[in-house]
Amino acid sequence: MNYDNVNPDAMNTHHPHFSLHDVVGCMSDYDPHALPVEQAQQIIQQFISPIHAIEKLALRQALGRVLASDIISGINVPAHDNSAMDGYALRGSDLPANGDLVLKIIGSAYAGRAFAGAVQARECVRIMTGAVMPAHCDTVIPQEFTQNASEECVTIPFGKVKMGDNRRFKGEDLACGKKALAKGKLLRPADLGLLASLGVAEVPVQRRLRVAFFSTGDELRSLGETLDEGCVYDSNRYTLYGMLQRLGCEIIDMGVIKDDPVSLKAAFRTACENADAVITSGGVSVGAADYTKQIMAELGDVAFWTIGMRPGRPMAFGKIHSHGKSAYLFGLPGNPVAVMVTFYFLARNALLHMMGATNSPLPLVPARSQAAIRKRPGRTEYQRGILSIADDGQLQVAITGAQGSGILRSMSEANCMVVLHHHQGNVAAGDLVDLHLFEGLV
Ligand code: AMP
Ligand code: MG
Repeated sequence: MNYDNVNPDAMNTHHPHFSLHDVVGCMSDYDPHALPVEQAQQIIQQFISPIHAIEKLALRQALGRVLASDIISGINVPAHDNSAMDGYALRGSDLPANGDLVLKIIGSAYAGRAFAGAVQARECVRIMTGAVMPAHCDTVIPQEFTQNASEECVTIPFGKVKMGDNRRFKGEDLACGKKALAKGKLLRPADLGLLASLGVAEVPVQRRLRVAFFSTGDELRSLGETLDEGCVYDSNRYTLYGMLQRLGCEIIDMGVIKDDPVSLKAAFRTACENADAVITSGGVSVGAADYTKQIMAELGDVAFWTIGMRPGRPMAFGKIHSHGKSAYLFGLPGNPVAVMVTFYFLARNALLHMMGATNSPLPLVPARSQAAIRKRPGRTEYQRGILSIADDGQLQVAITGAQGSGILRSMSEANCMVVLHHHQGNVAAGDLVDLHLFEGLV
């Protein structure tokens, strides 16, 4: 290995003290030429460590970012017991064992304008949603359950309300001194609202993860160039852009790099020196007539895998070094669907981990397969599917047409990824299969 100019003390913040060799050394059955997806995921997860760099952002800017420290609530939310309904606040002890109750109305309580007095037996206060509960009251009867309401009094029919109904407790949303949000949370719309409810205007977040990427291959043309005989437009940089953008990464798009050792080496070095992670596509297949793998190997600790998956068998993973900097490397295959699948199932979690996110695994949703699917045990297959609701109300999934690893159209038509697990065999029509949805509610 040739770590030109590497000063190990000057490397980036995130350097594990072990090599890939150390990581795979613990696996008795490690075979880089037939690596099950789960094992590849494990190796990546163990090798990678999170970045540690915090910035403070105004609340709105924190959307989609990773919280860098726990947020402890400095106040009770809500600050007082208050009403969950428009109606009348009363003393639960006044409610009779049977028969209706007539209460004297002694005032009103509005949200933001409390009733100042205290409520005595057989009295009540007209109250609006969110208004502070008047002293001695513990129960609210919704307006629509009452009868004969006048300015002076109101009838509470028997059985319409129990002691304690429709009262929200002080601190029931967030209690003062308790953890409101945990470090590592990827902030979503609800979290912005929650932070606002605590009065938090500035949020400590992890800095954005910097990801550099480029495409390799002499046949690739960038948009705007003429498409010569035998060439294709570079689409991978656009899908990668989309996927990285959605993850909230800072993106360094380095374009198409020709299959020439000098340009490739320069590109890898620049990427490594400017980013936390480098993602390339193409040039990692077995017997590829190019220099990509050679340069990757020269620049660091890189493993070349044949993964037991479809699409996306070949992949390079490791860490490269250049002029005292280092970056994790994901050398994805070239085929457009393989790029997306390897990104989602091998790179995505690793990048989230680097971002410091403590994300929970994506749910695998079971759905009935509408047709038989051929599947060989011994590899994981990711098929593009369309999830819908059957006439009987159950979830059903159909595989989108051709599943070739170059057919991006089927990816675009799909709304989910069907996961046919490593040990799984053929699927019969009507069998349940697992899938990941592309889009969620938030
Ligand atoms: P490779 O892994 O370099 O052998 O590429 C496998 C296939 O993917 C070839 O058909 C390439 O032309 C195609 N390919 C590689 N990179 C890209 C890209 N950036 N955009 C579109 N197709 C690509
Ligand atoms: Mg190529």
